[in-house]
Amino acid sequence: MRLILLGPPGVGKGTQASAIVKKYNIPHISTGDIFRANIKEGTELGMKAKEYMDKGLLVPDELVVSIVKDRLSKDDCKDGFLLDGFPRTIEQAEALDEELKNMGIKLDKVVNIYADKEILIERAIGRRICKKCGTAYHIKFNPPKVENVCDIDGGELFQRDDDNRETVSTRIEVYEKQTEPLIEYYKEKGIILDVDGTKPIEEVFETIVKGLE
Ligand code: ADP
Ligand code: AMP
Repeated sequence: MRLILLGPPGVGKGTQASAIVKKYNIPHISTGDIFRANIKEGTELGMKAKEYMDKGLLVPDELVVSIVKDRLSKDDCKDGFLLDGFPRTIEQAEALDEELKNMGIKLDKVVNIYADKEILIERAIGRRICKKCGTAYHIKFNPPKVENVCDIDGGELFQRDDDNRETVSTRIEVYEKQTEPLIEYYKEKGIILDVDGTKPIEEVFETIVKGLE
């Protein structure tokens, strides 16, 4: 299964990605996670990406595209993959098409999760992430059993630097301008699966699985 998860910030891509990759046994490729790991390690890439991420802006295409190309060439992507948060511009989508063509493979589906702006802001602001395993919780909608502690590995939860109201609003605007046109791009290719992201987590997952069958 070769999939893309498309949708605005906070809509639930990462949450659904965790369940999808488990079910289909494919690697989860999140460009946001790759950048955050690089920031943590203090790499040059991380330092460059942070400048844009802190402002809620997109990291330049050439940086993102080369990372994804490199990741897709790894052995574990041979039988499928889930791209989460990539592509985010038409230029990135075209570069991905080119790369997949060179690899002799095609995308199966682009899962487009949608929700209204107010929901996105509330979800992103209330998001808390495990420092150890990266699992996302929500203080109201999906809280851990013990406050600030990951159910899975007991790791401490933290709030992303860019999950404040101002930066989230910018990220949504950036999504509308630069990423939303991709819905039409993939609609024309006939591989879009629209999914209502306002439903509870399990229900969204069931809809996605049904749509992929
Ligand atoms: P994205 O990867 O699209 O930015 P996440 O998967 O990290 O979004 O979800 C954002 C926040 O919303 C998290 O705190 C998550 O727990 C919560 N969330 C995800 N899906 C749902 C849902 N269907 N209903 C309520 N809250 C959700
Ligand atoms: P995410 O974890 O998907 O919410 O992404 C967090 C931030 O990382 C974004 O706001 C961007 O600054 C950057 N980022 C992640 N993926 C991309 C991408 N495909 N293109 C450009 N910037 C990206």
